[in-house]
Amino acid sequence: MKLESINVNMEKDKENKPVDMDRAMRMWIHCNCCFVHFVDRENTLLLLACNHFICNKCVTAKLGRTPADAATYTCPICKRLVRARVVNNALPRNIKDLLHPSPWNDGLQHEQIDNFQKAHQKSLEQQIVRKEREVIKLDKDLELAQKIIRKHYFDHQQLRMERKQLEFQVQKVQRQAQLRKEEAKQRIIRQRTTSPNDRLAASRRTTTRTNNSMQQIKRKRSESVEPEKHQESNGITSFVHYNDHSFEL
Ligand SMILES: [Zn+2]
Ligand SMILES: [Zn+2]
Repeated sequence: MKLESINVNMEKDKENKPVDMDRAMRMWIHCNCCFVHFVDRENTLLLLACNHFICNKCVTAKLGRTPADAATYTCPICKRLVRARVVNNALPRNIKDLLHPSPWNDGLQHEQIDNFQKAHQKSLEQQIVRKEREVIKLDKDLELAQKIIRKHYFDHQQLRMERKQLEFQVQKVQRQAQLRKEEAKQRIIRQRTTSPNDRLAASRRTTTRTNNSMQQIKRKRSESVEPEKHQESNGITSFVHYNDHSFEL
């Protein structure tokens, strides 16, 4: 797509007014470094002797020893040390003609002018292509970033839900623990308020139970230690009769 047609469309979209053809014909004049347009009049534009346009923000003048000495510039594009002219109506005629919007109409040596203008137009078109590629890449990066953000958002939501569930469970456990603590406290209070006689009786009951258990254990032990003796019901101890295991060879 031609640069002029792009710019004309932009003009239509932006203002919805009749296209300023004069402005459109000058859109190719731009700083070869930062691509600011001359027609926007944002920066002062210089035409360097190496045929590069550079704005005052992109180059620094190296002043001569006396005010009469013209300043020199190091071109940021081709790195040559060059003189420069400010792009305005005071340009010498032979230089100003290079910027003529329709040199073929005025009988100028338009081939040289045409080549000059086409070279700058090509530089601008290449920059537009570079910027379009950057926009495509940025769109892709943006899409990827949005996907990542969406995933993080859902993960975050999931974690919030899990945290709420865990908080609920913690509260439940804390309530149960509190309840048990209260029960234990009540039990201790009840035990303390029981009368000393009751406690003695309870202690005796416990001792009796313990003694009975001990006697039962002793009885069992004595039975297991003396297997040969057998206590008969009339109080006489006799031998135990084993089964006959005799055999013949
Ligand atoms: Zn610039
Ligand atoms: Zn240059």
